[in-house]
Amino acid sequence: MDNLLVMKFGGTSVGSAARMRVACDLITKHAATRPVAAVVSAMSKITDLLLDTTRLAEADDQAGIERNMTQLKSRHLDAAAELIPADRLERVNGEVEGLVGEFQRIVSGMQMLGYRPARAVDEAIAVGERLSALLVSEHLRSRGLDAEAVNAAQAIVTDAVYNNASPLTDATREKAQARLMPILRAGGIPIVTGFNGATADGTPTTLGRGGSDFSASILAAALDATELWIWTDVDGIMTADPRLVPDAKILDEITYSEAAELAWAGAKVLHPRTLAPLVERGIPVWSKNSFAPEKPGTRIVSRLTAGNSGAKAVTSMANVALVSLEPASAAVSGVHLMARALDAVDRVNVEILALSSSSYRQSFCFLVRNDEIEKAVDAIKVALSLEFAHGYVNDIAVDRNVGLLAVVGEGMRGTQGLAGRIFTAISREKVNVIAIAQGSSELTISIAVRRDGLEKAVRAVHTECHLSN
Ligand code: ASP
Ligand code: MG
Repeated sequence: MDNLLVMKFGGTSVGSAARMRVACDLITKHAATRPVAAVVSAMSKITDLLLDTTRLAEADDQAGIERNMTQLKSRHLDAAAELIPADRLERVNGEVEGLVGEFQRIVSGMQMLGYRPARAVDEAIAVGERLSALLVSEHLRSRGLDAEAVNAAQAIVTDAVYNNASPLTDATREKAQARLMPILRAGGIPIVTGFNGATADGTPTTLGRGGSDFSASILAAALDATELWIWTDVDGIMTADPRLVPDAKILDEITYSEAAELAWAGAKVLHPRTLAPLVERGIPVWSKNSFAPEKPGTRIVSRLTAGNSGAKAVTSMANVALVSLEPASAAVSGVHLMARALDAVDRVNVEILALSSSSYRQSFCFLVRNDEIEKAVDAIKVALSLEFAHGYVNDIAVDRNVGLLAVVGEGMRGTQGLAGRIFTAISREKVNVIAIAQGSSELTISIAVRRDGLEKAVRAVHTECHLSN
């Protein structure tokens, strides 16, 4: 399939009938000149609503469930009323009711059990994307285009890690091509649900919150697309969060590695796992604004056309916590302790944002997201219970009064003096640095500071690295 364009529309880009119309304009425009496959998120806030409903079911809150069901229905029926012509509306409304009914049945099961199994949650919340794919495809059909809604459970094959599944590349390639190529070859436009997939034996899964970007890149790779365009509600990837740094600017071009680091370090531009499927095939990605489609956006590529110098962007995360561990006696080695603790944290799927170790005492510390701190600490306590009982390890220290900033750029590699300038800029603001991590790839410097100094530090680093010009 020559020149295939995969376009992904995020929740705000399909958040209302008006937004869906704009998304359909973009699909219509580009499908006129080349093959297009679209991937759509659920309408904005719908995934939250669905998840909340499953929690209410577990808590047997009947009134709450009914409130949410009413909202779920009206959001989509209202959009349908605006998007679908009268002669098709009754049928489409019936299909909306059918999907809402599927969700309702799973929720009733959870309510009966007083329990929400991860596997059932995945099947339930994928209904959000199935509803938006239905509305987008039906609106395109009413314009005379040959669009077809496709449930990604029929195209993306994943492992069975419910709520956070990973794609199986070869199986996905086969299944996605078998399901989508016939549509594309016939000149049609598949409108595929983002966020979900299914195991090899067909059990529904989801790829983790915000996973529609990932769906789009998985499909772009599986279909050997020429480009992937990710439509969001911002102009592109920025040098910093514009709410913190007023003179932050849009980046024209960045590399896969830089974009992945930025996503990882908290820039809410792309789901962190998005880029991996594209790297091997070198498929370029554009991050574009569906509210301002004439703007170029940011291009993400394997190698920059202009060369790469210095830092590219600075991100910050305010909702993090610093965990420190230290052997209490020479009977345990710090490395052994670190290995055991990290293994425990990994087993409960908590992400480590930065890690640092130094000193004769072999203490070490790492940063995790605030909402995962309890899970991490509990896991370490269990894994090291004997060591704690024997007093071989000092109590786990948790500091929530920290923030993490990360400076990212491939061009920092081998640039002497940059780290020095960054730290000088931070100290000029009288912000104390608590922990530092820089891997030998020199792609990212992560710096933990006191929470109340975070914003000042971000602005200082942005200025020092000349990111606004
Ligand atoms: N609808 C899903 C979520 O809100 C996936 C996505 O939007 O990317 O997490
Ligand atoms: Mg999203």
